[in-house]
Amino acid sequence: MDFTYPADAEAFRKDFRDWLEANVTDEIRALGGGGLGYDEPGQLAAAQAWNRRLADAGYAAIAWPVEYGGRGAGVMEQVVWAEELHRSGAPGPVNVLGIPNVAPAIMTYGTEAQKTRFLPPMLRGDEVWCQGFSEPDAGSDLAGLSTTAVRDGDHWVVNGQKVWTSLGHHARWCELLVRTDPDAPKHRGITCLIVDMQTPGIELRPLITITGAHDFNEVFFDDVRVPADAILGPEHEGWRVAMTTLNHERGGVARLHLGTRQKVADLFAAAREAPGRAGGRAADDPALRQLLARVYLEAELLKLVSERAISGELHGRALGPEASIAKLVWSETDQHIGEVAAAVLGPDAGTGRWGRDRVGSRQATIAGGTTQINKNIIAQRVLGLPRG
Ligand SMILES: Cc1cc2nc3c(=O)[nH]c(=O)nc-3n(C[C@H](O)[C@H](O)[C@H](O)COP(=O)(O)OP(=O)(O)OC[C@H]3O[C@@H](n4cnc5c(N)ncnc54)[C@H](O)[C@@H]3O)c2cc1C
Repeated sequence: MDFTYPADAEAFRKDFRDWLEANVTDEIRALGGGGLGYDEPGQLAAAQAWNRRLADAGYAAIAWPVEYGGRGAGVMEQVVWAEELHRSGAPGPVNVLGIPNVAPAIMTYGTEAQKTRFLPPMLRGDEVWCQGFSEPDAGSDLAGLSTTAVRDGDHWVVNGQKVWTSLGHHARWCELLVRTDPDAPKHRGITCLIVDMQTPGIELRPLITITGAHDFNEVFFDDVRVPADAILGPEHEGWRVAMTTLNHERGGVARLHLGTRQKVADLFAAAREAPGRAGGRAADDPALRQLLARVYLEAELLKLVSERAISGELHGRALGPEASIAKLVWSETDQHIGEVAAAVLGPDAGTGRWGRDRVGSRQATIAGGTTQINKNIIAQRVLGLPRG
């Protein structure tokens, strides 16, 4: 299945490709594909400088409405954007959580003052955002969260703990979910606050992953005073705010297969260089060829699944279940690639890029909804099975 790209999407491709060719340097490529961290000194500042150039040219968040600095781009232009950015090797904007997740909530529920204050610096990457949702006892069961906010005059007083807060150490702002009505049913007593991470009483403790990266943090709130008007959406309706669908970023699913198929291509190239177990090249070893063929097919399947989701969007179908399937196939394929790399490259796959990828890919089946939760969604909404 191949899409026919409409003429306006192809025109956009030409403009964006020309712009990237004129602007992407080796230094920008060296920043990598972006991500959660920015561990190296100066890396975040360099990524922010690149982000500003994307924003000034109108390429930082093309799906955002024009009034907020986007292009109001349709889904095929979003697909083209992802393809061309990937092709160029440059990273996207630094606000990997802000632009697709937090911004739609602000656009939907924010006051005019909040939109004016927060969206422009988010778009330009000048202010980094994090999401304070998960807690030690509330991950998949997010509505079980217990961080509290109690009203005291013209402030909320926040106490509790969040965990796995990506980008928290770089963030100026946090979209924070807190319990404001402990007596209400658990989905109904939650409120969403916009919290300045520089407020006294907030303590960050880094969580260093097995790859050695500092991607996320524990965040502790001890009598943190947050202005009353820092509420996003109505009081006690934070669940609705948190669930704001990603209206403006439907092209995101198109991006999933680009990196994965690139990894498979890179592994094929490495297998042509690496020695096989019985002499010759790894790529000629019949057993290894089977493994390589399997991940190749999985990655091609992922492309089809992504395209099916995009096609559904073009035909007005809701994204939900197809996104769950794409997430499932993507995360498992990523892990299989790591395992096949270990078989193909032997001890060489234990370090460097392949070693990092192999252990790093373990997070893929947890972040953004675990495999088990996605399987529950697919079972109920796609297969129509009863709840277990
Ligand atoms: C790379 C990464 C970045 C993240 N960034 C953020 C962030 O920025 N902000 C944030 O708030 N959170 C973030 N998270 C946290 C993430 O949202 C949670 O890890 C995720 O929701 C799972 O919650 P948990 O870790 O508490 O696991 P749990 O929910 O405790 O799950 C433990 C196990 O039980 C299974 N399980 C749970 N419930 C069910 C069920 N009903 N049926 C079947 N199986 C079930 C799960 O699948 C899992 O295998 C991040 C996580 C990762 C890995």
